[in-house]
Amino acid sequence: MDCLFCKIVNGEIPSKKVLENDQLLVFHDIQPAAPVHVLIIPKKHIASMNDVQPEDLPLIADIHQAAQEAARELGIDKSGFRLINNCGRDGEQTVHHLHYHLLGGTRLGALVG
Ligand code: 5GP
Repeated sequence: MDCLFCKIVNGEIPSKKVLENDQLLVFHDIQPAAPVHVLIIPKKHIASMNDVQPEDLPLIADIHQAAQEAARELGIDKSGFRLINNCGRDGEQTVHHLHYHLLGGTRLGALVG
């Protein structure tokens, strides 16, 4: 399958890893939009949030746990952070392998409210 993030998972494309376990990978975004900007992805290919199946839900819980762990590892757990998923065309999703952006290290500004 011609998927950029699957290639990162299998090591065909290098990445700067923060955390890795059997199910998930956390690595630095190549074009950071904040002082801390990492991507949390399942190793399993899931194209988008719209494609998450009931059997994948434990993985989504694990992603939240990985976000906490990565935030601690990167020193932004106390100051706070943002976890974002872009889904589909209007969500401006550009890589079609489920991923969550973990952003922090500065005041990010209000998106809503
Ligand atoms: P999206 O726009 O789909 O929500 O986010 C895709 C993200 O992947 C972007 O922030 C982009 O900078 C990042 N990205 C694209 N290609 C690569 C790559 O080859 N390596 C890494 N580490 N990040 C990438």
